[in-house]
Amino acid sequence: MRDPGLNGPAGNHPAKAPRTMAGTVAAKISFVSLGCPKALVDSERIITRLRAEGYELSRSHEGADVAIVNTCGFLDSAQAESLAAIGEAMAVNGRVIVTGCMGGEPDVIRACYPDVLAVTGPHQYEAVVAAVHEVAPPRHDPLFDLVPAQGIKLTPRHYAYVKISEGCNNRCTFCIIPKLRGGLRSRLAADVLREAEKLVTAGVKELLIISQDTSAYGVDLKYQASHWDGREVRARFLDLVRELGSLGVWVRLHYVYPYPHVDEVIQLMAEKKVLPYLDVPFQHASPSVLKRMRRPAAHEATLERIRHWREICPELTIRSSFIVGFPGETEEDFELLLDWLTHAQLDRVGCFRYEPVKGAPANDLASPVRDDVKQLRFNRLMERQQAISAKRLKRKVGTRQQVIVDQLGASMAKGRSQGDAPEIDGAVYLASRRPLRVGEIVTAKIERTDAYDLHGRVVGF
Ligand code: SF4
Repeated sequence: MRDPGLNGPAGNHPAKAPRTMAGTVAAKISFVSLGCPKALVDSERIITRLRAEGYELSRSHEGADVAIVNTCGFLDSAQAESLAAIGEAMAVNGRVIVTGCMGGEPDVIRACYPDVLAVTGPHQYEAVVAAVHEVAPPRHDPLFDLVPAQGIKLTPRHYAYVKISEGCNNRCTFCIIPKLRGGLRSRLAADVLREAEKLVTAGVKELLIISQDTSAYGVDLKYQASHWDGREVRARFLDLVRELGSLGVWVRLHYVYPYPHVDEVIQLMAEKKVLPYLDVPFQHASPSVLKRMRRPAAHEATLERIRHWREICPELTIRSSFIVGFPGETEEDFELLLDWLTHAQLDRVGCFRYEPVKGAPANDLASPVRDDVKQLRFNRLMERQQAISAKRLKRKVGTRQQVIVDQLGASMAKGRSQGDAPEIDGAVYLASRRPLRVGEIVTAKIERTDAYDLHGRVVGF
């Protein structure tokens, strides 16, 4: 759970009620942001807009004029966490606006908390802002309440998520996101690039590109061109990534499906235009499971594709996620997945036990897998993968790696190599003779590894 009201921009504000130049007390909001990086970007947009209108962020619900809870509805556990966060805001404050994925099911929320002021769905920024206006009208002073051009970011200053599209045209049977968030709606390339440029100007050193299905970017716009930096840029995955790569910062791609045109993007990685890092949610390897999952690119020969990617860009880091215990998954399916992992030699893997999300078509599939079997398969998969990941990591000992510094400690700094995304991958622990700065990119000689992390010494700045 992220609570920017406690950890984010509000930390920079004075504790007593801030006054505008005109002397009025600014209205205060508290904000809880739950869920994935895509929801985080939604939160950033809402907060940016409200800050631009002169609202202050409150450190806690207590004393705020209104509390906003941006919910996640992906899994039942996430829904329970969202309801708990709403309950806490109701108990402490009582003036609560709910938005985000769970907002797509207002009845569920109102059944638990009939007195919430408003419930809006995902991406309904305008509706959230209108609801805030109603409860606590803005007391804007344009001279005083200007927000930075890049908007308010909830991430550290040196990296930022950039969402290039909303929604999804796929219909994976375990997922209700298309139902909650609707079909694919891509942003024009110029719009994305302008945002990215502002972030870079503001000091961001790493852009994390996200969406539900990044490689489908622009399909809904029929690759419509838009004007940026004196030229036309099409809303096409390759074109957008190439332009992002020209901004001179790290560009990391998340949620990329293994469609054939991804090969061209791997070429950009080999040319060092974007980071040699690919987050590809394969979810399974057994054709029959993938078919029942209705996964995009289910028919691709993925092992062959991975081999080809590594041929183009040998230093490529591949991260993926898998679901075990999907309805109808047999021992044979699961062993096929284990064999596939041995052949694929992925660098990083996340694994989930299948959870029947309310409203997901997969719940109606035959032969659900027992929980104890799911757990056993989860353990077996993680054990198999840990050995592979450790072996892949060990290959880096003795090499020089570029590392971005995330945190400073008393005797060590913590950073990430080009193969590590924030929050989900490992870290690089750095010894350095000269003091380092957060956000700085240094060259480190890797000296040893442990299960997930690298340890090294700074050898160049
Ligand atoms: S690609 Fe599948 S899992 Fe991902 S958001 Fe779309 S439907 Fe859901």
